[in-house]
Amino acid sequence: MSIKSKILVTGGAGFIGSAVVRHILTNTSHSVVNVDALTYAGNLESIPAELHSERYVFEHADICDGVAMARLFAEHQPDAVMHLAAESHVDRSITGPGAFIQTNIVGTYTLLDAALHYWRGLDEARKAAFRFHHISTDEVYGDLEGTNDLFLETTPYAPSSPYSASKAGSDHLVRAWHRTYGLPVLITNCSNNYGPYHFPEKLIPHVILNALAGKPLPVYGNGQQIRDWLYVEDHARALFKVVTEGEVGETYNIGGHNEKQNIDVVRTLCALLEELAPDNPNSIASGREGGFASLITFVTDRPGHDARYAIDAGKIERELGWVPEETFDTGLRKTVQWYLDNESWWQRVLSGDYQLARLGEAV
Ligand code: NAD
Repeated sequence: MSIKSKILVTGGAGFIGSAVVRHILTNTSHSVVNVDALTYAGNLESIPAELHSERYVFEHADICDGVAMARLFAEHQPDAVMHLAAESHVDRSITGPGAFIQTNIVGTYTLLDAALHYWRGLDEARKAAFRFHHISTDEVYGDLEGTNDLFLETTPYAPSSPYSASKAGSDHLVRAWHRTYGLPVLITNCSNNYGPYHFPEKLIPHVILNALAGKPLPVYGNGQQIRDWLYVEDHARALFKVVTEGEVGETYNIGGHNEKQNIDVVRTLCALLEELAPDNPNSIASGREGGFASLITFVTDRPGHDARYAIDAGKIERELGWVPEETFDTGLRKTVQWYLDNESWWQRVLSGDYQLARLGEAV
């Protein structure tokens, strides 16, 4: 890819997509076309106004809309696609799987179809350089309960939830479009992300914001489920490396070597809040017995809840020289501090005002 390429990012108003957009605009000379339907998870305020320039365009569109996708490829002539748009919350996939099948499977198919049509029309040089990078999850590999195994790129798929099954389906489609039609694809499967601009329904921001508000900190089951955590900006750097340097047709696992039980994550967050927010009325320093940790509440486990995920990220480290910059301790501290410093961002999410941005009333 040349140093001034145009990258079409789907889902660029989401948690990881916005980190990718911020990374590209801040650290490279490439341009971004951010294609996002602005579902409840999309927030244009996650791309600060100071990053807006002639290198950044937002397109409000649904990846399931084939006519819109064809128009976007024809109009913007991208050099690469980074596909992050998805329904991403496991709990929502259990209560309403339809949207997951639609966006994650039908939407990925629609995008692949538009990309293939566009790619076939490129001249030979641009055709050879084009990349379609599909961003997926380690949850497609299923549950590692009771073993010390790590997920490898060759681990068979065994998804447990409607979310992970729909992502597995999308991965298979992307591989098939490479094998059958020659579309130059790359796939990455990453572990759980955390960091700034994370929508408050997910564990880490949910715990931080509930703790600050003195509300219960819900922990599923016995809290012993293990997740392998990666700081979102490390993920964004890894994704950029893969789309610019990865080998066509390959899959790369991405992870942070941070296997933690959920209950330990919650306890660590409480300890960080004791240190960083001692003036909050729910801290020990402000006189609450047991402090933030006294808010921990065990709740009925999620159906089909996987016990353990853990990634072997050796391939991307060896072949592309990527390693995470943050440890879990440094990343979690940065994350808590970010939520303390950016109350206006999350207050607008909690109140629903962030959705006004789609009407052009903000940003
Ligand atoms: P997110 O839910 O925060 O963001 C998803 C974005 O996609 C939102 O901006 C939403 O508006 C947009 N979107 C949803 N449906 C759309 C549609 N039909 N058309 C266009 N845009 C649409 O998700 P995230 O956590 O940023 O995850 C991004 C990608 O990374 C997903 O594909 C997810 O499966 C994958 N992933 C996430 C994690 C994680 O820990 N969050 C880990 C590994 C992989």
